[in-house]
Amino acid sequence: MTLPLADGGARDSGAGPVTRRAHDGFRQRYGVPPAGVWAAPGRVNLIGEHTDYNDGFVLPFALPHRTVVAASLAEPAEQAAPAEQGWTVWSEQSGEEIAFNTADADRPGAVDGWGGYVAGVVWALREAGYAVPAARLAIASDVPLGAGLSSSAALEAAVLTALTDLGGLGPDRLPVDRRPALAQRAENGYAGVPCGIMDQSASIRCRAGHALFLDCRSLDVEHVPFDLAAAGLAVLVVDTRAPHRHVSGEYAARRAACERAAGLLGVPALREVPVDDLPAALDRLPDDPTRRRVRHVVTENHRVRETVTLLRSGRIREIGPLLTASHASMRDDFEITVPEVDVAVTAALAGGAYGARMTGGGFGGCVLALVDADAADRVAATVGAAYAEHGFPPPTFFTALPCTGAERIH
Ligand code: ADP
Ligand code: MG
Repeated sequence: MTLPLADGGARDSGAGPVTRRAHDGFRQRYGVPPAGVWAAPGRVNLIGEHTDYNDGFVLPFALPHRTVVAASLAEPAEQAAPAEQGWTVWSEQSGEEIAFNTADADRPGAVDGWGGYVAGVVWALREAGYAVPAARLAIASDVPLGAGLSSSAALEAAVLTALTDLGGLGPDRLPVDRRPALAQRAENGYAGVPCGIMDQSASIRCRAGHALFLDCRSLDVEHVPFDLAAAGLAVLVVDTRAPHRHVSGEYAARRAACERAAGLLGVPALREVPVDDLPAALDRLPDDPTRRRVRHVVTENHRVRETVTLLRSGRIREIGPLLTASHASMRDDFEITVPEVDVAVTAALAGGAYGARMTGGGFGGCVLALVDADAADRVAATVGAAYAEHGFPPPTFFTALPCTGAERIH
């Protein structure tokens, strides 16, 4: 059985369908071509789950799927008085055009829904003291929305890159390493969504052929070689399309458990607990669930570093068992998986994957599997058959190679 796989290698590098739709959308709505076109990718996290808010380590890479923003400065007539300054934004995904002015942008929550992510970027930039020019934007994307592949950060990163470029805020005036925090601030402070800094860091800072080793405390990054194509490998992503269940409540509960445990252990965050000290730390905790939560975070941080060590020396296939161990830890210790993701992981391994794990916050979402590039179809077929056996709705698949972060493409 051959399943349709999106070709993750064929990134829309500026002449592809998503770019064209953003560009044509702009021209149709505003009657002129855009001054420029910018793009930012979605991401998958290779390993390091629920480590971000414990001040730990994550290792995402950028997807070939991107959100593209075609944009121009607003017409001079529209730039009349600063208080009247405004932004007009159309998104193909929502099918709507929205408009907001500086007063809206300065009041978190004033623009709601998807427009809040866009207005949030304007707000975060202005709050940090940067002037943001009035502008018109048209947005298209092939990042699946709400699948855990970070369409929200792709939207923020693409808009931020477009507006800063249009406003003459190049990397000399707004360094790239300061941008993820601004995009995160847009999502936390304006759109009202609590999220860590991984997604925005990945969308802005990733490089092609590399994964991004991010220290969530210092925000230091290392671009770790992850050249899947050269090794004849691919990451198969399975979008389980399992409905997310109880996500926000369970997320808050895991966070609270980790913070409580850190308090009991007398450390500011669980990142402080070295894996060698784990047995002693566990002895000091009052109950079994707390011990298992801590064991996940401490061992997961260790697995991220072990993965990085292997990748630095080009031993990509050997990370497989670490991916699979990460999944077992999420399933048994952190208890954030659901049957759909467990079945996908088991089937991917049975189909010949080197390793497989759920990626993202949990309770649904996507699974990734490290596979030989020419075995991706076979592994996908094994997962599809297992889903049919369990009576789950069919998942969707694509293969992904690590792509580049936010950039101007026209
Ligand atoms: P994820 O980031 O995993 O895809 P989120 O719930 O964090 O899921 O973000 C999804 C939301 O982001 C959508 O519901 C929508 O409001 C917004 N969004 C993302 N991309 C777009 C887009 N291209 N056009 C309009 N809204 C978008
Ligand atoms: Mg998101």
